[in-house]
Amino acid sequence: MPPESADTRPIVALVAHDEKKADLVAFCSGHRAALSRYRLVATGTTGGRIAEALPELEVTRLKSGPLGGDQQIGALIAEEKVAALIFFVDAMTPHPHDVDVKALMRLAILYDIPFALNRATAELVLEADAAA
Ligand code: PGA
Repeated sequence: MPPESADTRPIVALVAHDEKKADLVAFCSGHRAALSRYRLVATGTTGGRIAEALPELEVTRLKSGPLGGDQQIGALIAEEKVAALIFFVDAMTPHPHDVDVKALMRLAILYDIPFALNRATAELVLEADAAA
């Protein structure tokens, strides 16, 4: 769980399955300016890849998804701390932690937060917020 922070920017949570991590890093690179308006929180490996490629983006890394990172993001959603969730899903590969991913999706639906499962939607989420 990210420590309590003085950072008052809204949180955007970032997750990508392994086959989609490069795509998410490319997306973050192309939207650095927009993303810097948020406090970024990511599952462990995803956050590591973003931090490595884009050290200028401050990313709080949670546990790796299969070790509970998705559930940590779910808890943040339940605490109403997450402004949007961007989760680049690999739709072609089964994942051992699918049940966690499903739980995360359920909370995103329940709390009615903007929730992008692919790049096209993630673009719209950031654009919509910039226009607001
Ligand atoms: P990871 O977790 O960023 O630690 O790989 C993502 C996932 O839930 O698969």
